[in-house]
Amino acid sequence: MAEGEKYRQAGVVLEKSDMDHAVRQRRLADRLSESGIEGLLVTHLPNIYYLCGFQGSAGVLLLQADGRAPKVTFYTDGRYTQQAAEQVKGAKVVICRRKPALVEASERVQAINSATLGFESDYLSYAAYKELTRFLQGKTVLKPVAGAIEDLRAIKDNSEIERIRAAVSLASDVFPKVLDTIRPGTPERVVAGELELQARRAGAEKMSFDTIVASGTRSALPHGRASGQAIPAAGFIILDYGVILTGYCSDMTRTVHVGRASKAHRQMYEAVREAQLASIEAVRPGIEAGEVDGAGRRLLKKAGYGAYFTHSTGHGVGIEVHEAPRLAKGQTRKLAPGMVITIEPGIYIPGKGGVRIEDMVLVTESGHEVLTPTTKDLIEL
Ligand code: ZN
Ligand code: ZN
Repeated sequence: MAEGEKYRQAGVVLEKSDMDHAVRQRRLADRLSESGIEGLLVTHLPNIYYLCGFQGSAGVLLLQADGRAPKVTFYTDGRYTQQAAEQVKGAKVVICRRKPALVEASERVQAINSATLGFESDYLSYAAYKELTRFLQGKTVLKPVAGAIEDLRAIKDNSEIERIRAAVSLASDVFPKVLDTIRPGTPERVVAGELELQARRAGAEKMSFDTIVASGTRSALPHGRASGQAIPAAGFIILDYGVILTGYCSDMTRTVHVGRASKAHRQMYEAVREAQLASIEAVRPGIEAGEVDGAGRRLLKKAGYGAYFTHSTGHGVGIEVHEAPRLAKGQTRKLAPGMVITIEPGIYIPGKGGVRIEDMVLVTESGHEVLTPTTKDLIEL
């Protein structure tokens, strides 16, 4: 099979797999009704994709929550006529020729005499908000809505889980190939470039974020985007990357070592690995996200590295690479079956180096399933 054929074929099948947009729209409508909101103007593109399948870069979705079957209309412009016809499911498509999509949607709200209209307060610009207020002329009350769709998105359905599995599997297939490109003297950016080329060759749509390649003392930067620095003759390299396949993201981190690891480096690595396993072990339905964070953090503290674990343990992954839930200290949201999260503790010692190990984990009815198959044994190159 030609390179990339496996995931391209899987992608074609997955694209056709049913995304149950009607169920998602109804769940959202029920939530809105509970809070007395008649309609919602959706402007965040990942939320639009979730609700109707549109993957273009401009459009507005209006969901009217009256009755059992919500009325859903998607407004976009002439550039997306064909794309909207192909991708949009469960919504009427309106191509806006003379007026912007937001204006046409608000005219519709006026026409139906809606008393309340929700808008995505995290994703509507102030300028757009002012324009909307002007059009609605006080006849419709605007209500900020935050996190409603994101809450629904936190729990994945089967077709989403299959897409995520494919993205995880593709990214993890790339990992051994990238190891061959890591040599002292090679710039980090070249390693990142090789990694991204391999991912594209294997069928990735794109990377889910800027690839992190952080070597030597730069490995102490938790988010060390690949730089022009040459890989040193000895030390850790953190590789943190992910791909998007059929609209869904993956995210993984492995830390490898150039040359033989010293005893101190080995200890650091083992401490992170044990913390990561402890947090994974804690993952099950009903546990609070903060407790999963605590399970690994406690071990790192006990091993003397507490001050060097400077970020949270993980995050949800789906249409976006960072989404709900957040796995951090004090987070009381309970994990539930269908959530897909990362577990990624790390140690970062300034001037010395760092280690992070990140897997994606599915919350199941009985506990959890680790999706990332890549080995966590320390690899010395
Ligand atoms: Zn990551
Ligand atoms: Zn992550």
